[in-house]
Amino acid sequence: MRERHRETDDEIFIDSLPKVDLHSRLVFPGISRDRPAPGETDSRQPRPDAALFAALARRTARRLAAQRVRYAELSVFPIDGGYSDTQVEEMFAGLDQGRRAAERHVGVALRWTVRIPAPSGAGRTAMARHRAAAERAVELALCCGRGAVVGLELAAAAPGHPTGGAGYLAEVFAVARAAGLRSLPRVGRHGGPAAVWEAVTTLGAHRVGHGLGALADPVLVQYLRDQHIAIETCDGGGDRDGPLAAALGRGLAVCLGSAGVAGGTSSPRGAYLRAMRVAALRREEVVQLVRASIGQASLPEPARALLSAELDAAAAAWCPRLPATAPPGIAPTPVPGARGPARRCRQGAFVGGRPGYRASGS
Ligand SMILES: [Zn+2]
Repeated sequence: MRERHRETDDEIFIDSLPKVDLHSRLVFPGISRDRPAPGETDSRQPRPDAALFAALARRTARRLAAQRVRYAELSVFPIDGGYSDTQVEEMFAGLDQGRRAAERHVGVALRWTVRIPAPSGAGRTAMARHRAAAERAVELALCCGRGAVVGLELAAAAPGHPTGGAGYLAEVFAVARAAGLRSLPRVGRHGGPAAVWEAVTTLGAHRVGHGLGALADPVLVQYLRDQHIAIETCDGGGDRDGPLAAALGRGLAVCLGSAGVAGGTSSPRGAYLRAMRVAALRREEVVQLVRASIGQASLPEPARALLSAELDAAAAAWCPRLPATAPPGIAPTPVPGARGPARRCRQGAFVGGRPGYRASGS
């Protein structure tokens, strides 16, 4: 009975906190699987037009709003979804319609991070193909993203899958960072410090997805703290001796999110609850997680300050001894909605003459 009460309190506590979700994806149910061959139509699948993507964004926003999420950066997969150029344009147009409607009607700000698929091998051909995919991701983010794409994400290779390192992507990520996108590579869930070092040194990572393996290297932990580089995770499990509590104890900024939003059973609310129930995080530590995400969000500073104040007010009712601490500052980020990169893209000037970055008609 007592345990039941405690669980109820945990739920009320989690529900009371305004949240930011930086580690979830937009799930495109039924669109990217079993696509018909070019020129054929498949009546079983909804046509991936702008209206469908707009509805998906609105549905996702409603679901997030119900969990008191105020702002989210969601992965979108224009590269590995197998979409045609027209469908990609429809995707971004629809997502933009949907997120603007959601912001007006349910009060959730959605932004996107474009995902580069995982590398498929270590050979020269595989690396060249992967680099081309990464260049295409940057091109789409800047030319089609309507200012709402805030980051470039790199999916991690499957465990045991040989890759050619990340050196061949360094230039692509440098271009992306120079254009105002945040560098968001993910390492394998069991990747150790070497993978995290490569993400931060070669790709200039602002956040390292699944990077809790960094804990094995005290020098790296210090570096991440000094550089305000955060770790993203969707794993609120483990136990009190697990990596999540350890990372918080060592002062790392950890952004907790769910593995999926629109189509699955996982949710930001569920991730925080799991962190309390399974990893036995204290309420103060949960507030620390939310603060880290607010600090890492690509929000204009006034919006960040408002959200921080809202979190402090909500947390004060539960954690009276919690000091109100502003989240650590991050490197300057583009203001979501700014059109600068897209404008430069249309002029064809932002990539130093690499034709591969230019969309047709840009
Ligand atoms: Zn994850």
